[in-house]
Amino acid sequence: MPTVISHALAGATLLRLAGTGTASASRADGLKVLLLCAAAAMLPDLDVVTFKLGIPYASPWGHRGVSHSLLLALLAALLLTACSRGLWRRLGWSLHSACLLLFAVIASHAGLDMLTDATHGPALFMPFDMQRYLLPWRPIEGAPISPRLWLTAKGWRVVYTELLYVWLPCLMLWLLRVRFARRKEQA
Ligand SMILES: [Zn+2]
Repeated sequence: MPTVISHALAGATLLRLAGTGTASASRADGLKVLLLCAAAAMLPDLDVVTFKLGIPYASPWGHRGVSHSLLLALLAALLLTACSRGLWRRLGWSLHSACLLLFAVIASHAGLDMLTDATHGPALFMPFDMQRYLLPWRPIEGAPISPRLWLTAKGWRVVYTELLYVWLPCLMLWLLRVRFARRKEQA
């Protein structure tokens, strides 16, 4: 997996691309929705607790199993939308659009995980299909679960590949979005 911080950045970037809301929205609400999307993108990795519980990685209930499926992403998006409906309404979003965005944010987690050099990819279509999916091109070094490994060459490879393949594209998308918004204001 990429680190949860990189997942959070991807979630926040998707929100930024979609637009944070009406111009009259308060700064506090803007920050809240940003944090909500960042947290939602990290959500699937709560399943690392399964390692502590002794559930094998390859199990459907293990890391990257059902927690990384699109079905769970949809259910989590519905739940989060319901819990934060007041916030979305204040920002001028319809609940349908908010749910769709949150689904994309949560599903982006599995998308990034498929780019890592892990042995087991996300079980995207659980419970209908138990297969774990990884993309043919996997440039991102998988983040180690053990903190000890962060001080090795592997830890540095994780940082380097995440900066290159997650942070840099996100930064470019943020800049493009800002530029697009400025052009729109000037037009
Ligand atoms: Zn993950």
